[in-house]
Amino acid sequence: MPDTSVERRYTPLIILLLVAALVATIALWAVERAGAERGARQQHATDDAGGGGEQKHYQWKMVTTWPKNFPGLGMAAENFAKQVELMSDGRLKVHVYGAGELVPAMEVFDAVSQGVVDAGHGAAYYWKGKVPSAVFFTSMPFGLNAQEMNGWLHYGGGLELWQEAYAPYNLVPMAGGSTGVQMAGWFNREINSIDDLKGLKMRIPGLAGEVFAAAGGTAVTIPGGELYTSIQTGVIDALEWVGPYNDKAFGFQEVAKYYYYPGWHEPGSILEFVVNKQSLEALPPDLQAIVRTASRAANQDMLDEYTARNNAALQSLVEEDGVQLRRLPDDVLLALWQGTQVAMKKLVDSDPMAAKVYESYRKFYKGVRNYHHISEQAYINARDEVFGDDEF
Ligand code: CA
Repeated sequence: MPDTSVERRYTPLIILLLVAALVATIALWAVERAGAERGARQQHATDDAGGGGEQKHYQWKMVTTWPKNFPGLGMAAENFAKQVELMSDGRLKVHVYGAGELVPAMEVFDAVSQGVVDAGHGAAYYWKGKVPSAVFFTSMPFGLNAQEMNGWLHYGGGLELWQEAYAPYNLVPMAGGSTGVQMAGWFNREINSIDDLKGLKMRIPGLAGEVFAAAGGTAVTIPGGELYTSIQTGVIDALEWVGPYNDKAFGFQEVAKYYYYPGWHEPGSILEFVVNKQSLEALPPDLQAIVRTASRAANQDMLDEYTARNNAALQSLVEEDGVQLRRLPDDVLLALWQGTQVAMKKLVDSDPMAAKVYESYRKFYKGVRNYHHISEQAYINARDEVFGDDEF
C-alpha cells in the first residue's frame, strides 16, 4: 500500500507555495502595467505640451445663408460647430457667421470655393445658376421625401454625385439638415385654380421656381432674412419657407393669411455644408471624421426636431393666430406636376451632369417608391383606415 500519510502531510505546503507564486506573478504584472500606463500618460502629456508630437489646433470660419442664430435652419450650423468642438476636445473650432457678416447670403458658395473662408451652410439649390444639377441635392418637386433623400445620398450614390458636381469648385459637400416635407407656402389670396397663380409673385427657389413661372407666376429667390419684410411691403404676394415650427418663429402668420399644403415643391429638403477642399485636407484623419460625423448628426437632428414640433406649431397657427389652412386643389397639383416634367426635361437636356444625376435619382426613386407602396405608405394608409377617430 502506498504511504499516503506523506502526501497528506505535504499537500497543504504545496498549495501554499502555489498560491504564493500566483500572488507574486499577479503583483509583478500589476507593477509592470502601472509602469506602462505611467509611461503612456507621460507621452500623452508631452504630445499636448509641445515637442515633436504636438497636437495642432485649427480655427475655421463658416459663413451661412441665414442671419446669425436664425431659428430652425440656422441652428444646424450652430449645432455642427458645437459638436465639432466637443468631439475634438477643442482642437477644431468653427466660428459661425450670419449672412452679411463676412459675405452676403448668396455669396457663400463663392467664398468657400475661393478659400476666403473654410466652410459654409446653406442649400444647394441656391447655386443652380452655377451648378444646374445642384437642385437634385436639395429637393425636387414631387421627388423623394426626407427618409428617401437621406437613403439616396448616403446609400444610393447621391453624395458621390454631389461631390463630383462640386469638385470643379474646390468644394466638398455634406448633408446639413433635413427638413422633412415642407408646406406649399404662405399666400395673400386663395388658390382655387391654376389661373390664380397667374401674376402672383412668389419667393420659391430651385427647379420649383421654374415650374411656378411656367404656370404663370413670377418666381424670385430672396434670402430668408428678408422674407418677412418682402411680403409685408407687397414686394412679393406669396412665399414658401419650411413648415409650421420654423415658419411660426418667423411670424409669417402676421403678414399672410393663407397657409397651403402639401409641399409639392420640396417634399424632403436637405440643407448643405460645403467645405473648402484644402481646409478639409489640412485636417488630420480623426478631425476629418469628426467633421463628417457632426454634419451627419446635424442633418438628422433637424428632422427629429421638426418631426417633434411641427404639429403643436400648426395647431397654434390655426387656433391662436387664425391662419387659414388650405390644401392645394388637385388640378393645381396636376398642372404643377406637368410643369415639373417639362422643367426637368429642359434641365437634363441642357446639362450633362444634371443628366447623370437625374439617372441615379430616377432609378432610386423607382425602387424606393415601389417598396414604400407596401411599407411606409401601406402602413400609414392602414393606420388611418383602422383608427378612424380613435385615440392610440
Ligand atoms: Ca423651402
